[in-house]
Amino acid sequence: MSTDLLIVGGGPAGLMAGLLFARAGASVRVVEKHPDFLHDFRGDTVHPSTMEVLAGLGLLDRFLQRPHQRLQRAELRIGGRDMVVGDLSRVRSRTPFIAMMPQWEFLDFLRAEASRYPDFRLDMATPVAAYLQEDGRIAGVRLANGEEVRATLTIAADGRHSLVRRHELLPVKDLGSPIDVFWFELPKRTAEAGTLRIAVDRGRILVRVDRGSYWQCALVFAKGGANDLKARGIGAIRSEIEAIEPRLGSIAGDLVELDQLHLLEVSLDRLKRWHRPGLLAIGDAAHAMSPMGGIGINLAIQDAVAAANLLAEPLAKGENVDRLLQRVQRRREGSTKLIQLVQKITQDWVLAPVLRRNQLLSKPPLPLLVLERFPALRRIPGRAIALGIRRERVEPLVAKAA
Ligand SMILES: Cc1cc2nc3c(=O)[nH]c(=O)nc-3n(C[C@H](O)[C@H](O)[C@H](O)COP(=O)(O)OP(=O)(O)OC[C@H]3O[C@@H](n4cnc5c(N)ncnc54)[C@H](O)[C@@H]3O)c2cc1C
Repeated sequence: MSTDLLIVGGGPAGLMAGLLFARAGASVRVVEKHPDFLHDFRGDTVHPSTMEVLAGLGLLDRFLQRPHQRLQRAELRIGGRDMVVGDLSRVRSRTPFIAMMPQWEFLDFLRAEASRYPDFRLDMATPVAAYLQEDGRIAGVRLANGEEVRATLTIAADGRHSLVRRHELLPVKDLGSPIDVFWFELPKRTAEAGTLRIAVDRGRILVRVDRGSYWQCALVFAKGGANDLKARGIGAIRSEIEAIEPRLGSIAGDLVELDQLHLLEVSLDRLKRWHRPGLLAIGDAAHAMSPMGGIGINLAIQDAVAAANLLAEPLAKGENVDRLLQRVQRRREGSTKLIQLVQKITQDWVLAPVLRRNQLLSKPPLPLLVLERFPALRRIPGRAIALGIRRERVEPLVAKAA
């Protein structure tokens, strides 16, 4: 079995890359280890940068027909004050909001669009076991069922626990992260809507995202603290949440088992090299991001666009693209490093000190007071989060495909 492009992993990066390369005329096979897309608590935040890409492909209207909620404002309660910390209403985009769409819905949308192209093939429940190395090149993969698939190019889009990391095919630089997160849902009983709310107090941070009938919640705590928290029992965790966020009222009947808490061990890292002959890593496989700002999916999409812009045409013509792979890394690495730097500074200088202070805060930290005093400053993080730092536009060859 051989193909122009083999993609390991059917997440946002892999399926978007599959769609774009197939549109440009390359033969594409995506292999995904899970039998379906139904993982809960993944990146559900589709930003204007991604919707601009969809608009460029003529797919925005169909995307917006899928179920989603629209998020425009982020509010923070800290030190007894309520502050607006993000507002996308003035972002220059035809979609100045974050579309909160369950990741399985987004992936199903990408699958449906890619399946219109006869040279696109997606195999679910098909884990990759190893990469094939021949004459110093990656020549494809061996599937767990023993089948070998050969490809001119293999893209690793298999997330932050990528095989290329585990098999040490590409070296990783770990930037460290002082936080972990429990994700859980709470029913919505109040009329508050359309907003992301963050409450900070007593060494904890609670984030709530309006998902229509329920709140998607994240309880942020100091790294490694999950077992200690769980050992105190669900009743103690519930009391802490009620104390941080009294607007929720009593959640006694809503959070009753520890199993309702889903741990995200936050990582911040990137590959030092994103490629070697025959192989390119994109998305989380190339760089695991902090959940701050909800940019993981959107960076994964930008990587896929950059890869398709640079590689799809020569690959569709049957050319070897090894010499071009470094250009994908050069194109995407700068903005990735910058965003990771901002995430690292925020994590280490703002979140970690807040999480260490297990007491009531009397006033917000200085950077937040500055943001409150100068509303124009609030638009800078909003714009960077919404549109990204280096925006990718789909090249005409890929965009024009019917
Ligand atoms: C709990 C949680 C919450 C998150 N919240 C947010 C958020 O709010 N906003 C946001 O933007 N991002 C968030 N993220 C991150 C976001 O989900 C990722 O950044 C994004 O999904 C990256 O896309 P990707 O395609 O690079 O990787 P992934 O989405 O990780 O996809 C990789 C795919 O590869 C498959 N795979 C892995 N190994 C193999 C193998 N050996 N063979 C075949 N297939 C394989 C996996 O099954 C998976 O489908 C969150 C992540 C987690 C875990």
